[in-house]
Amino acid sequence: MTTLVPGSYPLALNENPYGPLPSVRRALERALASANRYPEFLPDRLPRLIAARIGCSPEQIVVGPGATGVILYILQAFAAPGGARVIMADPTFDGYPLLTATVGGNPVPVPLTAAGAQDLDAMAAAVDERTGVVVLCDPHNPTGTRLHPRELTGFLDRIGSRVNVILDEAYIEFVTPERRIDTLALLAAYPNVIVVRTFSKAFGLAGLRVGYAVAAPGIAARIAHWQVPFGMNILAEVGVQACYAAEDELNQRIHAIVDERDRLSTALRRGGYILPDSSANYIFVPLNDPALTRRISDAFTGAGIQVKQYSTGMRVTVGDPVANEAVVRVAREVVGDFVPAIGQIA
Ligand code: PMP
Repeated sequence: MTTLVPGSYPLALNENPYGPLPSVRRALERALASANRYPEFLPDRLPRLIAARIGCSPEQIVVGPGATGVILYILQAFAAPGGARVIMADPTFDGYPLLTATVGGNPVPVPLTAAGAQDLDAMAAAVDERTGVVVLCDPHNPTGTRLHPRELTGFLDRIGSRVNVILDEAYIEFVTPERRIDTLALLAAYPNVIVVRTFSKAFGLAGLRVGYAVAAPGIAARIAHWQVPFGMNILAEVGVQACYAAEDELNQRIHAIVDERDRLSTALRRGGYILPDSSANYIFVPLNDPALTRRISDAFTGAGIQVKQYSTGMRVTVGDPVANEAVVRVAREVVGDFVPAIGQIA
């Protein structure tokens, strides 16, 4: 758990800076009174709730303990047999290389482009007969870059239907609806695609561990095969239901985070940093000068700002305005003479 102490800014895990809305909190507190009871043996009500909300059939939804849990199920289903290869961008969400190794698969990292985008040409070229799964993220973690719909369909046409493709949309709610890929239409056209989403980010329920996959019914059944009996806690369904009921208030928070992200990006750019455009609740700061990286990292640590470090830069979660202000202040103080060295990811 990220503990909040005064003067400490937990910006390393892309969490929502806001605690549960009062209505969500009340619903969760009420549900706690039944903590002596088991949840459903295998979740049925929660997938129905999600399916009704997003407009697909419940047979297409598989819920799990966070997107992480769902990703593990998917890799168990499609990447475990015989050490299948899992193609993914490098860097990507840490869970992908980790869980691929857990199930006995082989991660195949494909470097991002210099602009911080997933290199779909190189990823398609990496697909071979040993490939079980390809992982794409939209927006990408850690750079926040988007997939282009036509490039995505071109990629799917090129690799064919044998290989399953995870389309990870953990941060999709930070993208305005008219700019999202129509994933249900995509699933209808490409039944080898598995969309993964979470309630940890925009919905702010990271501690409750609720994620889901949307897939063709046959694929969903193979994923659901790995679900742990009684594996979802009793707060999951209640939390999701309460969030859906509070959609307007949640959307206001999402807008506030997006506005803060844009404000943070602009302030850092004014300070000399060159950033890829982020469509998520974090920004990526490319750093390719080891001396600058060390200076920034020390300054952030000294100011109590926790961020995620990569060999090519750092990812900073958008926090509340006070945390973002601290990031801007420290980053701008440090940058000084280093400006010309900033900016390339690869
Ligand atoms: N996918 C991506 C791209 C992520 O960044 C994360 C969390 N950082 C996850 C999946 C997993 O999220 P969770 O398990 O909290 O649902």
